[in-house]
Amino acid sequence: MNRVRLLVFNAVLNVLDYRVPSGMEIELGSVVVAPLGPRQVVGIVWEAERLPGNEVPESKLRPLLEMLPVPPIPAPLRRLIEWTADYYCAPLNSVARMALASAAALRGGGTMTEYRLTGIEPKRLTPQRAAAMDALEGEQATIRELAERASVSEGVLRGMVGSGLLEPVVVDLDRPYPRARADFAQPKLNEDQQAATDTFVAAVRKGTFAPFLLDGVTGSGKTECYFEAIAEALRRGEQVLVMLPEIALTENFLRRFEARFGVPPLLWHSSVKSTERRRAWRAVVKGEAQVVVGARSALFLPYAKLGLIVVDEAHEVSFKQDDGVRYNARDVAVMRAKFEQIPVILASATPALESMQLAEAGVYTKIDLPDRFGGATLPEIKIIDLRKDIPERGHWLAPLLVKEMQQRLERGEQSLLFLNRRGYAPLTLCRNCGFRFKCPHCSAWLIEHRLSRRLTCHHCGFEHGVPETCPECGTGDCLVACGPGVERIADEVRELMPEARIAVVTSDTINSPAKIAEFVEAAENKLIDVIVGTQLVTKGYHFPELTLVGVVDADMGLEGGDLRAGERSYQQIAQVAGRAGRGEKPGEVLIQTRHPEAPVIQALASGDRDAFYAAEAESRRDAMAPPFGRWAAIIISSEDEAEAKAAARHIGAARPDVPDVFVIGPAPAPLSLLRGRYRYRFLINARRSAELQTIIRGWLDPLKFPNGVRVAVDIDPYSFV
Ligand code: ADP
Ligand code: ZN
Repeated sequence: MNRVRLLVFNAVLNVLDYRVPSGMEIELGSVVVAPLGPRQVVGIVWEAERLPGNEVPESKLRPLLEMLPVPPIPAPLRRLIEWTADYYCAPLNSVARMALASAAALRGGGTMTEYRLTGIEPKRLTPQRAAAMDALEGEQATIRELAERASVSEGVLRGMVGSGLLEPVVVDLDRPYPRARADFAQPKLNEDQQAATDTFVAAVRKGTFAPFLLDGVTGSGKTECYFEAIAEALRRGEQVLVMLPEIALTENFLRRFEARFGVPPLLWHSSVKSTERRRAWRAVVKGEAQVVVGARSALFLPYAKLGLIVVDEAHEVSFKQDDGVRYNARDVAVMRAKFEQIPVILASATPALESMQLAEAGVYTKIDLPDRFGGATLPEIKIIDLRKDIPERGHWLAPLLVKEMQQRLERGEQSLLFLNRRGYAPLTLCRNCGFRFKCPHCSAWLIEHRLSRRLTCHHCGFEHGVPETCPECGTGDCLVACGPGVERIADEVRELMPEARIAVVTSDTINSPAKIAEFVEAAENKLIDVIVGTQLVTKGYHFPELTLVGVVDADMGLEGGDLRAGERSYQQIAQVAGRAGRGEKPGEVLIQTRHPEAPVIQALASGDRDAFYAAEAESRRDAMAPPFGRWAAIIISSEDEAEAKAAARHIGAARPDVPDVFVIGPAPAPLSLLRGRYRYRFLINARRSAELQTIIRGWLDPLKFPNGVRVAVDIDPYSFV
């Protein structure tokens, strides 16, 4: 090759042509550095015919500067990047960026310097240094990361290096990972598990595209089954990607993985420290990383020889990314498997309706695990009608639920209360004048957190202390909390059962791997009697002594007009119910509701999942909603309200007039102000046959907007706010 077309990482320019200097061994997918004006950009060598651009005459081409010492991005990944950009209407280079970790990792291996405490105990310390000493116990990371962890400036830490309190440690970036062993601790599988496993193992051996929906009730051993597929890939020297919806779930996964394979897998997510990221990325591209477990961002890594993808809890909404490139990692995972020609397993006890439809249509092979492992039975589910079994005034737990909890406490068993609302109360107002605390940057109420004594916005993180007096009328001691959050439920339990040991489990309290591990250990060792938690505790955990689950407000998820609300509520409650009775003792679930007749509640009570999916599918079909029709959203935002509105109108005026595509809007978004930006939305509903992306591009591409306006396209949206 003597000339190449590059996909460059520059916000304005996507594609540029260059000359290859003699002696540079360029391939498609090579990562290179090229001159751009007076500066330099990183780019990936791409198939010229796949990137539209103007042919530049040979004489005008500038030469590439350098080829980076990493393997070329493989063709299947380049095709995936193109597909993702095309399908989600996203810039190609924004998608491609997800394949490259940091600029540093591209520079090759070598070493990096981290720092740790030396163990020297000085006699006198400034308060800042003392705080840093406390916070950094047992830590080792770069100065910048340590500064963040200890909440001090980098300057303070550099000072500590100078006085010998911190010492440098040289980290080798290409130091190998211990090898996982396929046969380290093989379980004895039951008949259903064995059948599932045989199918997966055969698919891994065959090495062609094969999507599976592993549909197994909670506690059926889905993990054990896909572990055997992983073992087969390991025996073949292939890499495996396991995607989990939340970092919070990885702790539990790591332990089980290590018990099965002898060593932990590689972790990939946003809070992995920079040296580990660089090391992991390099092991991934060289094919040395055997199993990578991560959140969405692990999906686009350039695995050298990927042999299997597993998406666990595949129904989870958090696989959908709602900023930057708005893609659904579950769906893209299946596309990646297709381009790589490998099997992919989507595991869930409550699959998404979309996945069920694809299984029904024969696109996915459905594998069922209908029973819990080891003779454990599914919990019995009962409904509490809150209109009849009324909680005490100012309380939220019905007498029956309280009675059952007290019995569990007497028997030394555990209870779990689920309420998907962080903090103490969702709304705080002044008893005297009615003033409500609102976020200055978002159209949302501030949520009171009593543990941290602050009012917080759950959208942008804005917070301030709880004032003594009302900011509006100045009355003292007048603020009232309206409605419950988990902290308030925990207070109620404390009042009713003073001797109970209570753990509040939310992203506010359990926000680091260490805290998760601490919680799991406490729960397993029966140091906790009652867990009060948000959706964080609904999945993944296996506590044998947990025999009672109380759903505090089953109606909450059904509010808000989200078109998937029914399905989501069903999944969430079925998942949390699945935490009960996983050991030898049977479990019981009590669901508090004001609408016992609602189809979701009925389906949960009767255990008739199929009927629920059928009814849900029917109403989606009527509404031409996914998977029967298609949706897309356009979100317009600006810091200037008038500007946002004008842009929305501008887009509205250019709306396409095509059969099978229906444009609703523009309308102010339900969250009409978010992080200081005013927002308008369109919802587009189309028949499956419509060329939705082409129509949207043809509609938006010719339009011009002021600099402050952002226009985002969301294909297959999950969020409607
Ligand atoms: P799921 O993910 O389907 O909810 P898990 O994989 O968490 O189920 O399995 C539930 C529990 O049963 C776990 O503690 C797991 O270790 C155990 N288990 C499942 N299958 C086996 C098996 N074949 N041998 C031993 N333990 C098993
Ligand atoms: Zn806010």
